[in-house]
Amino acid sequence: MMKRKTSRNNSFADTLNRVSVNKEVPKSVFVLLLLLYFIANYFTRNLSRSLDIWLINGKEIPLSMLAGVSASLGNICILLIVILFGKLGFITTLLLLISQFPGLLISIFKMRNFAVVQGIFTNLLTIVASVIIFLNHLRMINYQKKMREQAITDQLTGIPNRFACFELMSDLIAKKEKFVLVSTDLNNFKSINDTMGHTVGNKVLIEICERWRAIASREDAETQDFLSRPGGDEFLIVIRAYQSEEDIQNAIKRYQDALEQKITIDNCDYFLNASFGYAEYPTDAETAIVLVSYADTAMHEVKDSVKNDRILHFTQDLAKIEQNLATERKIRNALEQDTIFYYLQPQYDIAHKLRGFEALARMKDSEGNMVSPGEFIPVAEKIGLIDKVDLSVFRKSAMFFGKLIRETGADITLSINISVRHLMKNNFMDEIREILEKSDLPPKNLEIEITESIMIDSIDKALEVIGEIKDMGIKIAIDDFGTGYSSLSYLNKFPADLLKVDKSFIDEMNSSESSRQYVATIISIGHIMNLDVISEGVEEPEQLGTLREIGCDFIQGFIWGKPLPPEEAEKLVR
Ligand code: C2E
Ligand code: MG
Ligand code: MG
Repeated sequence: MMKRKTSRNNSFADTLNRVSVNKEVPKSVFVLLLLLYFIANYFTRNLSRSLDIWLINGKEIPLSMLAGVSASLGNICILLIVILFGKLGFITTLLLLISQFPGLLISIFKMRNFAVVQGIFTNLLTIVASVIIFLNHLRMINYQKKMREQAITDQLTGIPNRFACFELMSDLIAKKEKFVLVSTDLNNFKSINDTMGHTVGNKVLIEICERWRAIASREDAETQDFLSRPGGDEFLIVIRAYQSEEDIQNAIKRYQDALEQKITIDNCDYFLNASFGYAEYPTDAETAIVLVSYADTAMHEVKDSVKNDRILHFTQDLAKIEQNLATERKIRNALEQDTIFYYLQPQYDIAHKLRGFEALARMKDSEGNMVSPGEFIPVAEKIGLIDKVDLSVFRKSAMFFGKLIRETGADITLSINISVRHLMKNNFMDEIREILEKSDLPPKNLEIEITESIMIDSIDKALEVIGEIKDMGIKIAIDDFGTGYSSLSYLNKFPADLLKVDKSFIDEMNSSESSRQYVATIISIGHIMNLDVISEGVEEPEQLGTLREIGCDFIQGFIWGKPLPPEEAEKLVR
């Protein structure tokens, strides 16, 4: 247990020390300066006694004059020692300088060498300078210590703050020592602040810290804990030296139990609890930042959950939830500010004549980074906002297309993607009518793409709506064909105009004969049922060649055109 105490205290002291502006100068510099000082001293002594004369450019210079130069160099070494080595340097300097006085005095009084009087005064001056430098150094050290403590201490509670916790984590990560980071947030603490005021709120926080500090610094604890408060009613606890998951849970339960005991402040009783989420280094994450965000994610999951359990270990599933939540926020934001936009990807017939464009939703986050539709469309689908996304793309692209057709007279098709969820909404037909009317887009120039795999689940009701759409003269395309499991009879019932062969088959077509035959069969079946067939995601000339051979009608792919901003698409039409 003693060992544990030392290492616990060390870790905090280490952290403290590292938050210092003063980097320690290597001891070898100390030895070097001392050596230089002795060499300079040796020269000073010999030069001052020398009667030799140097002839430089015909001028006579007594060698003893150089004694002053080497004496000054020696003093510079001494001052550097005080500046760089604090107390050690100061004591060494004093000893060196004072020890020279007897020799100097003997020189004056016994040997009648009055030239050394100057040396005595230089020594005195150096001593005074050393004292001043050292006192200044002490003041700086004290000031730095105070600043350092402030930098890593939470002012309200006196426990380490977020910075200190990150410092400790980086230390442990550098040493590759496993640990667990616990993120804690008090439940309903805000209501204490709101109803009783911040002074009471602060007292409650201080009381909690007292209790938790006692647990963290308990000498007989099974684990080694480091408590910190990043701010508000949040705490981060680093737990080390555990053997099992049970040890971790037990350690956290100690904090939980202590917190849930009645807290009395100014004769009022408060009952608090908290949510605890944790993540482990290195199994869950390998950097402090990610670890904190994972522990936070687990903690928020506990907070939102209706279950009684208030402690949760992070899992990768939770990361997905968190990521989806972030995407959800982006979608809501974009819808609120009406910043969903669209690109148009050209579709061509096999002779490379323009057939039309598919409108594809695009979205940027608040920092202006594109969010991929592969990421936000499924989330929008899940949270029931896909109809708003579809509608926004439909409305904007139809307005643009209506105008383009009016102005150019081009007979081109606008394909829009509509989710089956959206299609089933009662007012879907009204939306279409309204948009067609406003945009002046002829129904025959509009095509609605419905994804095969989703459609199958809700065929009967979907068929009803699709019938109405067809009656208006709008075309229907079955998107991502081949990825679902539609039977021939189902396909026969479905009044589509176009089959869109999914990119995955086109990708494999030239490397596997069966894929080539599969695409060829889809095309034949489509033709038998009187449907046109378009291949999606065509990138290579070989794919194009094969598709020509097996009779594909239309092509959509990077080979002939990537999704373009509307202005660029317009240039293509004009
Ligand atoms: P999709 O309807 O099958 O659209 C085709 C996707 O394939 C587009 O991706 C397009 O950029 C991409 N693509 C086309 N040609 C190539 C190619 O040669 N190579 C490669 N690598 N990719 C190609 P995007 O724009 O990322 O859209 C992904 C999916 O998101 C769409 O697949 C569609 O299912 C959905 N989506 C897009 N916009 C909307 C919308 O407004 N509403 C709904 N409900 N879904 C949409
Ligand atoms: Mg599509
Ligand atoms: Mg598709």
